[in-house]
Amino acid sequence: MTNQKFNLSYQPVDTESVKPLVKLYREVFSTPPWNEAWVCSNERCGRNYGGAEACQDDLCKKCGAPLREYYPPDRLGQEIIEISGRTGFRIATLLNEGDLSGFWYGWRGTLEEINRQKLALAPQELAAMEERLARADRRRSWLYLAEFGIKPELRGRGYGKELFTYGMRSATAENIIARTTPSSPAYYINRQNRIDTVWNYTDGSGRVIMARPYIIGEDDFPGCR
Ligand SMILES: [Zn+2]
Repeated sequence: MTNQKFNLSYQPVDTESVKPLVKLYREVFSTPPWNEAWVCSNERCGRNYGGAEACQDDLCKKCGAPLREYYPPDRLGQEIIEISGRTGFRIATLLNEGDLSGFWYGWRGTLEEINRQKLALAPQELAAMEERLARADRRRSWLYLAEFGIKPELRGRGYGKELFTYGMRSATAENIIARTTPSSPAYYINRQNRIDTVWNYTDGSGRVIMARPYIIGEDDFPGCR
């Protein structure tokens, strides 16, 4: 028997509570499809490597430059602490046998704010995307689903879906927006929750913006059925 606990917090993350989160974040994103353990220090190359593909002192297989950590722990910790102070911040976590094993977090803002913080669309692109979201209740801000991950060795057991659903209970009456890639597990879970693609980036990254506008009079969380 294993023991899973889900938790939801609206409290800012502090310098102590960020430590297990940083460790798990680095672990999650060092695996496929992200492979963000190391990155080439030559900015014109910028190739990234997963934890199983390279070690600390390896040189870039493409250009020979030294590798550096993709997410240096101190910088990542500072970034998460900063994010956790934003309006509407919330974090859902999964504890497996007492170990932090999954996270789901986001914050709230207007589309303009979220665009400035994360989406980075040009003004005319943002306007075009807003057109597609015209049915949304504009009095409400948007919940930006920032990060979502499950410890690699626990994947494939449905915990991700459970954690996502757990976190989304906090957002039954919110406009939802996220950025991901179609190769990410989040993409499929988003779609199962009717968070659909509303924008395809044209920068060659393959990234997409997905959204689910909150529409008064429709079911609050149709994905739960
Ligand atoms: Zn390189």
